[in-house]
Parts: sequence; structure tokens; C-alpha cells
Amino acid sequence: MAEFLRRDSDIARRWWLSMDTETVKVGDRYQAWQISLVDQDTGEEVMNEFLTHDCKGDCSCARAGRRMTGRIGPQELIEKLEAKGITGESTRFIAWATGDHDCAVMRDFFGGANFPSCFEKDRLLLPYHEFRRNLPKSFPLRLGEVFEMLFPDDPLYYQWHDALADAQMQRKIIQAFEPAQKAGQAGREGRARLRVLIQGRESTIGRHLV
Ligand SMILES: [Zn+2]
Repeated sequence: MAEFLRRDSDIARRWWLSMDTETVKVGDRYQAWQISLVDQDTGEEVMNEFLTHDCKGDCSCARAGRRMTGRIGPQELIEKLEAKGITGESTRFIAWATGDHDCAVMRDFFGGANFPSCFEKDRLLLPYHEFRRNLPKSFPLRLGEVFEMLFPDDPLYYQWHDALADAQMQRKIIQAFEPAQKAGQAGREGRARLRVLIQGRESTIGRHLV
């Protein structure tokens, strides 16, 4: 998190991308079928690709209209990442998750050791934990729940579970809290900020604030 907050003065000028994947469980493993990347600072859509996977009848890719069309394989994705200049050196990913799941399913997608280094284990920034630390245990922290609370009129909410919308939503949540985190007062200011944001709004989430 410290590296992210200091990124303006980072000599390496790393590119911070809000990242999300959509997955389907096949056997006892998850397979990625969509990956989306959004520039954390500008909101620019950097990538939104649908991936080859073992598609079963209940796969959500059908809902996204992508059961048969527009899928790309590992080699094509590597080429697209390279064309965008996304490398382990240049880029850091941010995800709304408790662990390494998004990068793990992508490493599997590339089939072993030859995955691009931006997907290396434990390199993902996970702001979820900052929020968890600063809020009561009962506070709901699923992506759509937090987003709807902070941005109740934003139509992105209705696309929750589309990887591109999710990457945009987590970007906005992180952006809203960055000033408090920069000031080193995420706990006090972050909670106060949440209070202000929900003030006067019909929200069941409000009662979770203490
Ligand atoms: Zn599918």
C-alpha cells in the first residue's frame, strides 16, 4: 500500500491497474473467462478480454454473451499485454479480493511456468485488508455492497460481476479512500468519510457503522 500511495514520486513510475477476473469452477479448480484492467488514476479501460476455458452449461460467460465468440488463448493474451507495455517491471495490479485468487487463475490460464511476471504470486495490492482493519467486523465488504454505499446513484452497480465494471468500481472505492490513507489516518478519517457519504441516504449498511 505504501508503494501505491507514494506512486507520484516513484522514480520507476509504475503503472497501477485495477484488475478483475471472472471465473468458473471446473472440477475442483477455477478457470478465468474474463480479465479486465482499468488505469487506477485515469479510469481508462486498458483491457477487457474474454478467455478460452472449459465452458459448462452453468457458466456465467453465457450471460455475458461470450459463450462461443471473441475468446482468446494464452499466447494472444501475452501479445496483447506486451503491446500495451504491461510487464512485471512496469505494472502493478490492484484487486478487490482477500487473496491471490485473480492472479492464481491467470497463472493457470497461461498453463504453468510461462506466465507474464505481472501475475507473480503475492504481488497484487489488496486494499480490502485496509478496509477490513478499519471497520467493524460486521461491516459488509463485498465489492457491490461497498460500492453501492459510496456511490448509490452510479449505474455501474447494476453490472456487478462483470469484470470490467468490477475493475471500475474498485477503482472508485480506492480513489475515495486514498486521501485518508495518504494522511495516515485511514481508520479515523476513513470511517468518518463513510459516515458523511451515507448521511441522509436510505441504507441498511448505515447501521453497521459504529
Ligand atoms: Zn463459459
